[in-house]
Amino acid sequence: MKPYLKRAWAEVSLVQLRKNVEIIKSLNAPETEIMAVVKADAYGHGDEHIIKCLANDCGIRYFAVSNLDEAIAVRKFCNDAEILILGYTPPEYAHEISAYNIIQGVVSMKYAQELSKNTPNPIRCHIKIDTGMGRIGLRSSLPEECAIEIAEIMQTDKISVEGIYTHFSVADSDTPDNIAYTDKQEKFILDTYDKLVSMGINLPHIHFMNSAATCYRNSSRSTLSRAGIILYGLHPDISLDIPDGLAPVMELKAVISQVKTVGAGTCISYGRTFSAEDEMRVATVTIGYADGYSRLLSSKGEILVHGKRCKIIGRVCMDQLMIDVSDVPQAESGDIVTLIGRDGDDIITADELASLYGTIGYEVVCGISKRVPRIYVD
Ligand SMILES: *Cc1c(COP(=O)(O)O)cnc(C)c1O
Repeated sequence: MKPYLKRAWAEVSLVQLRKNVEIIKSLNAPETEIMAVVKADAYGHGDEHIIKCLANDCGIRYFAVSNLDEAIAVRKFCNDAEILILGYTPPEYAHEISAYNIIQGVVSMKYAQELSKNTPNPIRCHIKIDTGMGRIGLRSSLPEECAIEIAEIMQTDKISVEGIYTHFSVADSDTPDNIAYTDKQEKFILDTYDKLVSMGINLPHIHFMNSAATCYRNSSRSTLSRAGIILYGLHPDISLDIPDGLAPVMELKAVISQVKTVGAGTCISYGRTFSAEDEMRVATVTIGYADGYSRLLSSKGEILVHGKRCKIIGRVCMDQLMIDVSDVPQAESGDIVTLIGRDGDDIITADELASLYGTIGYEVVCGISKRVPRIYVD
């Protein structure tokens, strides 16, 4: 970033990322390794720096991504990584999956056969089992049937199966009903794996822990913990605490471009949704919805200025927004303000912003747009 073009930027702390990894390692059993989920540009944090830090500083070997482009990016940054594609790859790209030594999630016999037809070389696979998420994977009513189907897929030419996995849909809830649901999901994949063992099939991998399960129901039987959101220090669900020491990695900052005092009745921003009741001081801030700071935060969000919370007044524009700085007399143009992160004693998290407009912290960080440079603090 040009220092003189400071407008809106995200500061990403590799120091905090390393701390979060240490805490996740301490949650996991010695036999469980972290599989860092770095899909969607490492949840908006920037894949290159995050992957290099995880691989080179933290010793992480396993990575999970959503698609082939992301997988090839990981391969470029880390030559010896084990990379799993969790989502769909069109079968006509099967040869690239094997050329880059990537592991593909396989959801059905039909998909295994299509991959097989499109590659001259064997493809490494983990088979996805749908135990209750209802999204992708083998669906069977009994673990015995599921194991037989897996054994059949393993017979497919050029399909080399190294593991099975499943995904929990409510591991971030502590209601008895949801806990029982996740118990059933976990039991299904464990029973399937044990059935395979009894058939003489010993796969190196079985994995079912996402961030929530890693925190709240860690199991030594999961060979990998597919940690996503907790790597970045956010909550799987805002209502449940995460282990001590996990803290957000990303901060979002911008600058005050102008401060003015306006009289009673002055309208602020598009649509005239706000008009001043009394004389007040208004600051304009250099960030807007095109930067990923949602327009749904109009008249709702707060921003830290000199350690004090200031309310957004009127609508968030594409590249700018206005705040009430009446209580911050020292605020002036050129000041740096904090939209996400800590300033003094106060902190605004992506999780807090998310709950203001009815989403989750995941969407807030993934939504910080491309034009916002990521600055790495080490
Ligand atoms: C995204 C994803 C994860 C990571 O989820 P978090 O809640 O961020 O830990 C794990 N497994 C699968 C299959 C996913 O799609």
